[in-house]
Amino acid sequence: MHPLITTLRFLLLSLPLLAHAGLPQSSNVPGGVMVLQLGSTSAIADKPQAWFEDRPVLVTADEGQWVAVAGLPLDSIPVMHELKVQLGHETVMLPFDIRPKAYPEQYVTLKDTSKVELSPADLARAEREIAAITELKQHWRDAPDTDLNFILPAKGELGGRFGARRFFNDQMRKPHSGLDVRAGSGKPVVASAAGVVLAVDDYFFNGKTVFVDHGNGLITLYCHLKRMDVKVGQTVRKGQRVGLVGQTGRASGPHLHWSVVLNGAMVDPELFLETQQMRDEKAAIKPSVRGEPVEP
Ligand SMILES: [Zn+2]
Repeated sequence: MHPLITTLRFLLLSLPLLAHAGLPQSSNVPGGVMVLQLGSTSAIADKPQAWFEDRPVLVTADEGQWVAVAGLPLDSIPVMHELKVQLGHETVMLPFDIRPKAYPEQYVTLKDTSKVELSPADLARAEREIAAITELKQHWRDAPDTDLNFILPAKGELGGRFGARRFFNDQMRKPHSGLDVRAGSGKPVVASAAGVVLAVDDYFFNGKTVFVDHGNGLITLYCHLKRMDVKVGQTVRKGQRVGLVGQTGRASGPHLHWSVVLNGAMVDPELFLETQQMRDEKAAIKPSVRGEPVEP
């Protein structure tokens, strides 16, 4: 084949995939993210609205399609669920499946047993804070667009993964609600995408924590920080430093705990990372399989 023809064929095949690179990886499991096409942007002029379990869901345009991107709570029951969608004057219920996922177990040993078996005062504090954090996770800000393609907020190896069923000093506690990055104390922690600082606080379990609101129900948390460098209401750029790695709160050593919240659900942060492995997986999907024209 003529080299130019080969190049053209490559471009035709790869362009839709490149344009698709901004969406998270779809994973219909508890703690996953469902990416669902709602119809073409040319046929439906107004942005559709969507709800999952009465909570508004992020809708974005991608490759000429309106796409709903819904967070699936870790305690979701693996059965058929429905996404409520408003398309113009019409309201439809779109059924979808949540498949079961067996997350691994993780055992953590803490010398400071006061963070495992709480005193009545600490328990009362922790309960108050959990209620406040739950409230913050429900926050919704309409934004013209949301960057769904995150960067890893600290440099380091990945430690504890999202969803791990955790045992502290052999006692079962809540599953791991984020992704841990092993980084030395004092190393920079940056915003995984552009946003507005929603909250800055020092919690019993999460330690010094920064919340960044990316709009349309997408929020990231940076926990156990040694120092916080931003204020509530401040706009941050993707990659801007929000604090330094530390081990405040319940942590067995210095690391960043990074959580991603979508429509109030804690979801797997790795689904938002454009890793080489994910790029390879996307490239392996033939355009025709995804409903894209192979030839113009
Ligand atoms: Zn963690």
